[in-house]
Amino acid sequence: MADEQQYDYDVLVIGAGPGGYVAAIRAAQLGLRTACAESRETLGGTCLNVGCIPSKAMLHASELYDHAANGAMAKLGIRTQVELDLETMHAQRRDAVKQLTGGIEFLFKKNKVTWLKGRAAFQDAHSVTVGDQRVTAKNIVIATGSSVTALPGVTIDQQVVVDSTGALELPRVPEHMVVIGGGVIGLELGSVWRRLGAKVTCVEFLDQILPGFDGDIRKESNKIFKKQGIEFKLSTKVTNVAVEGGRAVLTLEPAQGGEATTLEADCVLVSIGRRANTEGLNLEAAGLATNQRGQVEIDHDFRTKMDGIWAIGDVVPGPMLAHKAEDEGIAVAENIAGRHGIVNHDVIPSVVYTWPEIAGVGLTEEAARERGEVKVGKFPMLANSRAKTNHEPDGFVKVIADATTDRVLGVWCIASVGGTMIAQAAQAMEFGATSEDIAYTCHAHPTHSEAIKEAAMAVTGKPIHA
Ligand code: FAD
Ligand code: NAD
Repeated sequence: MADEQQYDYDVLVIGAGPGGYVAAIRAAQLGLRTACAESRETLGGTCLNVGCIPSKAMLHASELYDHAANGAMAKLGIRTQVELDLETMHAQRRDAVKQLTGGIEFLFKKNKVTWLKGRAAFQDAHSVTVGDQRVTAKNIVIATGSSVTALPGVTIDQQVVVDSTGALELPRVPEHMVVIGGGVIGLELGSVWRRLGAKVTCVEFLDQILPGFDGDIRKESNKIFKKQGIEFKLSTKVTNVAVEGGRAVLTLEPAQGGEATTLEADCVLVSIGRRANTEGLNLEAAGLATNQRGQVEIDHDFRTKMDGIWAIGDVVPGPMLAHKAEDEGIAVAENIAGRHGIVNHDVIPSVVYTWPEIAGVGLTEEAARERGEVKVGKFPMLANSRAKTNHEPDGFVKVIADATTDRVLGVWCIASVGGTMIAQAAQAMEFGATSEDIAYTCHAHPTHSEAIKEAAMAVTGKPIHA
């Protein structure tokens, strides 16, 4: 289609997850006529409907239950008689989802974004069908997100064998839950059901949990989860899951080959990763194809190889995180509007919302050492006055800096409020901070964040409290 031709919209976003809905709102704010196609009944994508939000609702509620039921409150002089009301716990989760997805609908109306209800498929590079409607747009943003990766030969029935969506909705606490995959979903949702009373076994193919995280952090988290009662079978793969009479029998094999064993469970969570959603999009009609991993390739500005087609979020290469998708949503809209939308992909924090939280930003120590000489400062939460007072002794903060320039390359932590603490590290890195900059920044006392200051002081060997 020629540029001067009239299009229905300046921008059509496909998918209303944190990538897509943010892109649509920003595009509309920048004065562009914008529509967003979404095939779900509600807006907000994986994140609001079946991901970040409902999982955090269950993590928060189960954490409080655990503190009350398992002695942590008694230590503070608070005696409780605790009873689990799982239906109310689920109801507050559903309510959080309803309010937040409804909030996006309100924001669409407020910003005059048209919500096209239905599944979108390309007809050509500037037109798509959404249900039985055909719409044209000068710019189309693919923000279709991701879905659960299936384990070959294993059927997810959402009763005995569940994915993350099923694991959020279990109507009763399992006796024995086997989690396949020791990544973020397995540890978060495994923690929820462990706290509520299930025995949890985590089977992980690699020799350590949490791939992609700093080595020390992976080892220490594994110790903490074991102490909490999660059993781990590392370097082990699941080769079969047979379900009969409401129970599952899993066949396990050593990752490097060897004798198979079996494991019984009444609930199996498959959490071995997620894959990009491109099925049914008819990318070929737009002149596009996926890469070997099924993702849509883009350049630094989020452009695909077809003029006027852009892509962001889980459907493109990179970490599958809501805040990364959101930032890309803002940047792509700004680029479409002729501004300079930028995302610094070197500074994207990652948080696992377990107890304690596990968080990091930038390079792991292993990756930093591959690039050159580094200095590392560590500080234990046990020596942080606030963590100590709150009876939260587990964890540490680690700051990795360039040995020559002192520029901070990565910050990692395990701490009760690690997810909140990591924001200051991300901001410092965004401003190109040195470890000395962090060490000489005044931090309020007594706060957990002082541990970041002390770890930065430890880079030059001079923490005060350890
Ligand atoms: P999505 O959120 O997946 O949204 C894509 C939308 O596009 C979907 O609503 C889908 O229905 C729609 N769609 C797809 N194809 C079409 C089509 N052809 N036509 C119309 N609509 C279509 N990330 C974090 O940062 N923090 C967390 O705490 C966190 N927790 C998570 C917990 C769980 C259990 C899960 C599963 C994920 C979690 N994530 C978390 C990851 C996060 O949800 C994703 O990274 C994020 O949602 C990606 O956003 P997106 O906009 O790219 O895609
Ligand atoms: P993941 O990639 O984090 O972890 C999957 C794990 O499964 C890996 O450790 C992998 O080695 C293991 N694995 C793969 N195949 C296996 C097999 N056959 N047997 C045993 N183990 C196997 O994936 P996930 O936990 O499913 O999460 C998916 C995505 O969702 C992640 O990319 C994550 O970023 C995102 N997410 C983020 C958050 C958060 O930010 N707090 C929470 C949940 C999900």
